[in-house]
Amino acid sequence: RILSVSIQKLKESLREMALLVGEQLHERYLYQRSALARQFPFMMGNDVWKGGGALKPNDKVGSVLDSGTLGIGFIGGHNAMYALYGMGHGESTAAWETLRECLVVLNEVAGEMKAKYHLNYSVLATPAEGLSGRFTKLDVKRYGKIPGVNDREYYINSFHIDVKEEVRIADKIRLEAPFHALTLGGHITYIELDGEAKKNIRAIVKIVKLMKDNQIGYGSINHPIDTCRSCHYKGVIYDRCPICKSEDIQRMRRITGYLTGDLASWNSAKRAEERDRVKHH
Ligand SMILES: [Zn+2]
Repeated sequence: RILSVSIQKLKESLREMALLVGEQLHERYLYQRSALARQFPFMMGNDVWKGGGALKPNDKVGSVLDSGTLGIGFIGGHNAMYALYGMGHGESTAAWETLRECLVVLNEVAGEMKAKYHLNYSVLATPAEGLSGRFTKLDVKRYGKIPGVNDREYYINSFHIDVKEEVRIADKIRLEAPFHALTLGGHITYIELDGEAKKNIRAIVKIVKLMKDNQIGYGSINHPIDTCRSCHYKGVIYDRCPICKSEDIQRMRRITGYLTGDLASWNSAKRAEERDRVKHH
């Protein structure tokens, strides 16, 4: 009973927060309308926002902005479920269902905002590069350290299964796929492979097929690529290059939707997350 009250409370506060965010996005939109076309040379020059190409440099962008999107993002689905169930949605079906219901709430709010302002509101499954570490710090200050909830440097990306959880490839895809249809502003599901992936084309084809069959909107297979800066050898390099013994290694990883030039350029929260990621089998 206590749990069902907590779930109800969570959904109510989620709704309240999403409405606040929706209104804030609208306020920002009103302000941005007053910007001038020349402030967005790429967007206007390429007519990315419909009608933008026809504006003169000193015209206000105005209604051209209407074809942009207003995203309501979220992180830490896993952490929130852990707070309620002592387990994430990768382990508990009840937690999975609760997280799904939370996403339904966010979509309801996005729908209401759309109807109210006739703008493209959407729910966004975000990795929140900056917030991922900032929110945990703020929450520790406010609530103290809660094991499993905010005791790491980062919150888990959107609806993703905990990066530390040993979950089978097929299960990860099956559990995350239904959330893609509920996050139309953007989403991704990763499978982490070890460095031997490129030798096993069949396994990769199988994973892609599984993603397609489960209606994953955007799927990604991550595997590490290290490059020796001295002799340009590529592969998985542990301490030093197997060819020339150099220790000057560029470590390419995919942490969020795009490839990073080098791991060293990421903030500490995201680097900590990368360190914790388990490989999937
Ligand atoms: Zn080398």
